[in-house]
Amino acid sequence: MSSSDRPVVFRNGLVITMDDTHTIIPGGDVLVVGDKIEQIGTGLEVPEGTEEIDAAGGIVMPGMIDTHRHMWQTAMRGYGADWTLTQYFVWYYLESGKLFRPEDIFAGNLLSAIEAVDAGVTTSVDWSHGLQTPDHADAAVDALESVPGRFVLAYGNIQQGPWEWTNSPGFRDFVRRRIDHGKLEGFQIAFDVPGDPAFPEKAAFEAARELGVPVNTHVGVWGATNDNGVKMMYENGFMTPENIYVHAATLTNDSYSRIAATGGSVSVSTESEQSAGQGYPPTWQLRKHGIPVSLSMDTSVWWSADLFAAMRATLSADRSREHMEAHGKQETVTNHHLRAENVVEFATRGGAKAIGKDDKLGALTPGRQADIVLIKNDDSPAMFPILNPYGHIVYQANRADVHTVMVGGNVVKRDGKLVGTDLPAARAKVGATVDYLRGTLGEEAWQRGMNPQIPESEMFDNPYQYSDYEPGKADENIAE
Ligand SMILES: [Zn+2]
Repeated sequence: MSSSDRPVVFRNGLVITMDDTHTIIPGGDVLVVGDKIEQIGTGLEVPEGTEEIDAAGGIVMPGMIDTHRHMWQTAMRGYGADWTLTQYFVWYYLESGKLFRPEDIFAGNLLSAIEAVDAGVTTSVDWSHGLQTPDHADAAVDALESVPGRFVLAYGNIQQGPWEWTNSPGFRDFVRRRIDHGKLEGFQIAFDVPGDPAFPEKAAFEAARELGVPVNTHVGVWGATNDNGVKMMYENGFMTPENIYVHAATLTNDSYSRIAATGGSVSVSTESEQSAGQGYPPTWQLRKHGIPVSLSMDTSVWWSADLFAAMRATLSADRSREHMEAHGKQETVTNHHLRAENVVEFATRGGAKAIGKDDKLGALTPGRQADIVLIKNDDSPAMFPILNPYGHIVYQANRADVHTVMVGGNVVKRDGKLVGTDLPAARAKVGATVDYLRGTLGEEAWQRGMNPQIPESEMFDNPYQYSDYEPGKADENIAE
């Protein structure tokens, strides 16, 4: 990654460092030299020729980190907005996922990578489970490497058992070619453990151990993965600190204890859990077990790739749960446990810790990589006054307020405009993928996939209905 030749200073912003003591510096400066943060403070003296970015009226924060995003699915943006997990599994796992060609993986990843950077997500873990051949994997990496953000490839393949593809010559050759000397920020292996007592996934865990890479796995997903999977991972010694457990929404205390005791972290995708049905977003459980949390958006086939939305939903879901449980006991919550500050931590430092990069990313401190987001929008009434910095990030700002983004000292978005990315080319490629899929599926299947049946709704009798009008009998009502 090429960083700017001359130093850059963010001037006079509200600097949220997310350092160990969560230092906040009003009217603060952040000086970047090369790819690293050189100095943070107020009224900094800077080398001659330093480029100044006026951060006045804005918030300067660390680049956000998403630890679980199925980037290839961005080619189908919004298509599954009304899906449950069942429709998702049918569409991608059983019916249409295998239609995706390498160029379709490329297209989805390219648009998703650009979208991430644009929204201030400077590091994304690509939970890439559409890699049915090494050609698909090459296409995924080609796309990620062409965008000036940081990407961790979590290699997956839903068309084969993980014990098969992790030990295939093609996969091992891919790792040698693209990972060992590549430009990616990291590499993980992505698969799930549905709970077959024979534990066939053991060979995949052994492959990960042999390669020395983390496993990123969906656990506690209602109807798909449960405590049995966690138990087998634990009893076979595969629960290690570098692993990421996605969702972890429907588990018993025993499973949470196993995660906590072995040092792994949970990637919470609140918008996904609330809508798809994996289980209640689990921060209310995780905080009682002391399990580290990072955030993720899961997939843009349903939701936006927007970590502001993730922070907001996560904070609200935790509080919603707390109130609901209290009201069930005729009690009142007078003080919230989870704070805006916590979810900002999850979205930044929590992600850095989850991917094993806490010495390098996730906070604004001298020596760390200069992955910086300036939230500033002088045209927005919602950006004034900024009184509660964390609260402002979570509940007031949104991704349209991402003014400037820097990755490794390189400005990749400036004044609200992307720099060094070819969005029109990505649009054209995604357009071609959509045309291909729509044409292959046929219009009827395309529409059916997007519009699942609506179940019959229960309607209660309403004793306060005074008129004789009966819904659904409009003609008779009029005739009388
Ligand atoms: Zn997922």
